[in-house]
Amino acid sequence: MTRFIFITGGVVSSLGKGLTSAALAALLQVRGYKVRLRKLDPYLNVDPGTMSPTQHGEVFVTDDGAETDLDLGHYERFTGVPARKTDNVTTGRIYTDVIERERRGDYLGATVQVIPHVTDAIKQFALGDVDDEDFVLCEIGGTVGDIESLPFLEAIRQLGNELGPEHSMFIHLTLVPFLKSAGELKTKPTQHSVKELQSVGIQPDMIVCRCDQDIPADERRKIGLFCNVPEDNVISAPDVGTIYEVPICYHERGLDRQLARHFRLGNECDVDDVDLSRWNEIVNRVKNPEGEVAIAVVGKYTNLLDSYKSLAEALDHGGIANNVSVKLNWIDSEVFESEDAVHHLSGVQGILVPGGFGERGAEGKIAAAKFAREHNVPYFGICFGMQMAVIEAARSLAGITRAGSTEFGKCEEPIVGLMTEWLRGDKLERRSAEDKLGGTMRLGAYDCHIEEGSLAKKIYDEPLISERHRHRYEVNINYRKQLEAVGVCFSGLSPDGVLPEIVELHNHPWYIGVQFHPELKSKPFEPHPLFSSFIGAAVDHSRLV
Ligand code: GLN
Repeated sequence: MTRFIFITGGVVSSLGKGLTSAALAALLQVRGYKVRLRKLDPYLNVDPGTMSPTQHGEVFVTDDGAETDLDLGHYERFTGVPARKTDNVTTGRIYTDVIERERRGDYLGATVQVIPHVTDAIKQFALGDVDDEDFVLCEIGGTVGDIESLPFLEAIRQLGNELGPEHSMFIHLTLVPFLKSAGELKTKPTQHSVKELQSVGIQPDMIVCRCDQDIPADERRKIGLFCNVPEDNVISAPDVGTIYEVPICYHERGLDRQLARHFRLGNECDVDDVDLSRWNEIVNRVKNPEGEVAIAVVGKYTNLLDSYKSLAEALDHGGIANNVSVKLNWIDSEVFESEDAVHHLSGVQGILVPGGFGERGAEGKIAAAKFAREHNVPYFGICFGMQMAVIEAARSLAGITRAGSTEFGKCEEPIVGLMTEWLRGDKLERRSAEDKLGGTMRLGAYDCHIEEGSLAKKIYDEPLISERHRHRYEVNINYRKQLEAVGVCFSGLSPDGVLPEIVELHNHPWYIGVQFHPELKSKPFEPHPLFSSFIGAAVDHSRLV
């Protein structure tokens, strides 16, 4: 029977609950177990799709077309297990379902209440859509003590009772700050946070303490004593050099061993010498690069780097594949609207324009694409970055001076236009400009045919690929002839041939735009071919100058 591990967080947010969950899952995989990870988010949005990336960070898209929390990206990168729609839920989703059921009359006249109806819906979600996984790790978003978290904590408390300790476990992640003025590590915030958790009926089985240093045995003993947890189950989680070191760090501090003991997994699991070579090798490569390349990321949400989480990771993976470190220069595209691109871009070996929405900053992205084209700097345009590159080529190469996107309003030459219908498998999806914003984009995995003889074909080495999408607008296929005549190659198309998926430029060492988001599928142990090739091209470029 599947065992459930519930991970909560306390004291402050941004402690890395997602990474902790992902790293623990990776350690369980190393021990031979099949894992699944899911996130229960207490906020009221039905999904994060409508939230600004500068507030909530990146929206991670699954193959089956769900817009989810960025922690699902960590889960996939650490375990390689593709996340599904059923792996992320929010208060908004739970209440929408409960209220729909109430309107249908499914509750047979009952007064609908948080307990049991909302908590039952949360429990159904946590337990639902499980195959033959040995472990399901459920991370509860937010911080213990938040008003929104209460129904979730109540639901997992009930699950703990129903499943019993042999099939459930509670892990609480806290912060142990070092007070410089006192020269001491402080355990009190952890004690208070655990008290808060106990007040809703949850006794953590394990406490993982984030700290800027290793926590000595004395402090761990004290935390154990005050929080009613065996000392060995108080795990120190010091800062590490790279996130891919986290599984190794946790293993060395006994996280997976103590978990194996909790679940009485038997002698063969109660061992310390598990094979961590996969993680050691990645860390080794990250820590010992043979060179460095600088990549400019020209975007709009550069003040919160979580907005581009998967992108930054995928670029690092490209570095791992080429044995170089990748230095990212985050540049707000709006600067190019008042200043010359050359000041910011002349020292970089590659330019990347990532996904984005809206007109603000678009001209700056077009300027960055122009700079890359004219100066033979490797250019990688992702989604919006592809659309802006095609507009740039249309204006500069094909002489379509009024080229634009209907995303920014009425447009005489709609090089990029709203998608009103497309095929999903053999089903026709229809949209109009009046549609609601939430969940209506072209979302999830779609196939793409790659042209023989193209750079994309060389990179993927496959005629048919599947990548994840999240867009409402699309390069207008009607301009194909005009653009191909000036060296813009449509090297990837949807299977029905109407949606451009990849464009590239002839007469340029490396200039590719993709309508999809390859960064979502890159993993440290399996870098995405586009990112490996892009960083490879940046390395080549650095040798030229
Ligand atoms: N705003 C563009 C669209 O909707 C691009 C989206 C994106 O970059 N993810 O098509």
